[in-house]
Amino acid sequence: MGSSPPYLDPALSVPERVADLVGRMTLPEKAGQMLQLNAKDGVRHLIEDMHAGSILHASPDRVLEAAALTERTRLRIPLLVAEDCIHGHSFWEGATIYPTQLGMAATWDPELVERIARATAVEVAATGVHWTFSPVLCITRDLRWGRVSETFGEDPFLIGELASAMVRGYQGDGLDDPTAVLACAKHFAGYSETQGGRDASEADISRRKLRSWFLPPFERVAREGCRTFMLGYQSMDGVPVTVNNWLLNEVLRGEWGYTGTLVTDWDNVGRMVWEQHVYADHTQAAAAAVRAGNDMVMTTPAFFEGAQEAVATGMLDEAEIDAAVRRVLTLKFELGLFENPRHPDRERQAAVIGSADHAGLNLEAARRSLVLLANDGTLPLAGGLGAGPDGRAVAGAGSAPRTVAVIGPNADDAQTQLGDWAGSSGQADWLPDGHPRAMIRTVLDGFREHVPNGWTVTHARGADILTVGPDPEGAFFPDGQPRPEIVVPAEPSEAMIAEAVAAAEAADHVVAVVGDRIELVGEGRSTATLELIGGQIALLDALVATGKPVVVVVISSKPLVLPPSAHRAAAIVHAFNPGMLGGRAVAELALGLIEPSGRLPLSFARHAGQQPTYYNQVRGQHGTRYADLTQRPAFVFGEGLSYTTVTYTDLEVSTDVLGTGDTLRARVTVRNTGERPVLETVQAYVSDTVTSVTWAEKELKAYRQVRLAPGESREVVIELPVAECSLVDAEGRRIVEPGAFELLVGPSSRDAVLLRAGFTVKG
Ligand code: BGC
Repeated sequence: MGSSPPYLDPALSVPERVADLVGRMTLPEKAGQMLQLNAKDGVRHLIEDMHAGSILHASPDRVLEAAALTERTRLRIPLLVAEDCIHGHSFWEGATIYPTQLGMAATWDPELVERIARATAVEVAATGVHWTFSPVLCITRDLRWGRVSETFGEDPFLIGELASAMVRGYQGDGLDDPTAVLACAKHFAGYSETQGGRDASEADISRRKLRSWFLPPFERVAREGCRTFMLGYQSMDGVPVTVNNWLLNEVLRGEWGYTGTLVTDWDNVGRMVWEQHVYADHTQAAAAAVRAGNDMVMTTPAFFEGAQEAVATGMLDEAEIDAAVRRVLTLKFELGLFENPRHPDRERQAAVIGSADHAGLNLEAARRSLVLLANDGTLPLAGGLGAGPDGRAVAGAGSAPRTVAVIGPNADDAQTQLGDWAGSSGQADWLPDGHPRAMIRTVLDGFREHVPNGWTVTHARGADILTVGPDPEGAFFPDGQPRPEIVVPAEPSEAMIAEAVAAAEAADHVVAVVGDRIELVGEGRSTATLELIGGQIALLDALVATGKPVVVVVISSKPLVLPPSAHRAAAIVHAFNPGMLGGRAVAELALGLIEPSGRLPLSFARHAGQQPTYYNQVRGQHGTRYADLTQRPAFVFGEGLSYTTVTYTDLEVSTDVLGTGDTLRARVTVRNTGERPVLETVQAYVSDTVTSVTWAEKELKAYRQVRLAPGESREVVIELPVAECSLVDAEGRRIVEPGAFELLVGPSSRDAVLLRAGFTVKG
């Protein structure tokens, strides 16, 4: 007794404990503390021989094993267990899987997103996982990129609102709350500025462009206390992001005062050797990564020897490793892991994972995430008389029972509905069959469970999407990672189409559920095209040709280009992988049990050749057309229909001359002129009339969501600090330039639907 070292004494301050502990560590222990290693092939070696500070992708059994092993190490430094719990506890069988981040973004509702993150943290924390690699703050630029579904879309302001909410939700009331998990803002920064949508390509992006659009959401969460940041994969102007001193030190830690932990992305340090060829060996790469301020090195086992060798040869000073180790240990002390390592807790798991409350929240999120893109009045199908006590839609008195044909490859594909980073999406090998089927409601399930009593639901698959085959370039990448199999689009099947057409002809309503599949989504799975692939276009053509009203439901990871037949269909509903209860939400929306309220968090192209299609493009190009196609997107940022009509009138700014420290106040009258209630998203954009540098024509700066009963009219007040009406000048400074501005208010970013009011900012 009495011999317990000072670092184990909770009465001492964190810096004192850290200093004591670092003083006791050997160089191998320090190098190991900086490592986050893949637990896929076992944890004993990682913990006992490599002194790993953190593990990721650990199955539930491995988390338990790692906990026991850590207790027996020399210094008993707790392990940080990390996982990509990015729309729910992705790889915990039976956890609640919510819509993807893109689906959440379509709700435009930070409060809802915060609740999802909180509920996720509660599930995650019960399983011995301390750290989620979420949220993604990358801006979607090119829709061909495979990771669009992980983003909050294309607008920096909306991303900032939602990311900030998600970080709050994960981190809860503070790290000492046992249900808090560490949030991770990623991928810092510019990773999504791909070339041609190719994953992790060199990003052609200037510091000014970064400051203009890519950095603001990161700055916001850094200043608000997001505890960890993850780097991207790309290099910019020849510098791999892992060693970008300007970005990591001058901007993040310097200007923004970030004191949190910085983790590389997967084998970034190794990639600088074998992929980017900027260092000859792992010793050089390790030295450079430490010097640039990285704290934790993800899945580069060779860093262990490399860092030690760099110190031995004088390439790196041990004090530089100490600085990183201190930051990692500070995080562990602040989480209280030395006192309570937060090991898995079976009782809490039973109480919270997949709980009824979380399912309720998930249903709310799925309902809010759906975007109605077109409707000729066919929807809602069941008259909108609400639900009976059994949850079924109520049909109008005396109306004859009807038949709904639910057709298509995504109508009843439970795992596909969940999207990337969930269950069997490929990153984890301990749940090959994905999440329990009983927790998931496909669109077919939804119709079967919610059509009015007496109605009939039929089903035909109608088309396959794809099969996969081996990559002709070999089964593995040079780093040993498996290459994804390549996609082989399915041929349209005459027999399947004939069966689907017969079902459609025998029905009163046709619901065609098409989209993409996991093989077309994710890292290394960017797509060259955006069209529906396989037999889906032929299927839609045939269904629309029957003359029956066809409701097209797209369940996909990202915006797709729909064929002309889909644009002639009765309605289009878009669902960005809507989570476990997404199919139920789709059926409820189609039957009129809920109101459509989602708004697009990004623009939809008409053709892949239009990329990029984001709305806030810089002014100054010739015209609005290609020779062979308009440049206008098919659907624009902010767009989404409801089952009613809403008018906007009388936009007025209360003072039209303001100083840069003032707040702009404006009012607009919004009226529900239809017969159904609505949740309207009132969007406010700002346009700076004359700018010292070329700048976006307009940018979203504020929005309000208001509920309006049929006939109700409301004056909506919009407030926005003039300081937000800024641009980044030629020297890279964010400033407000005095002069004339316009406030644009309306239901989407489409110019034709926006009211305008001028205001002047004086110097
Ligand atoms: C991805 C990250 C992810 C990490 C760990 C990387 O390949 O880019 O987003 O968090 O793997 O799974």
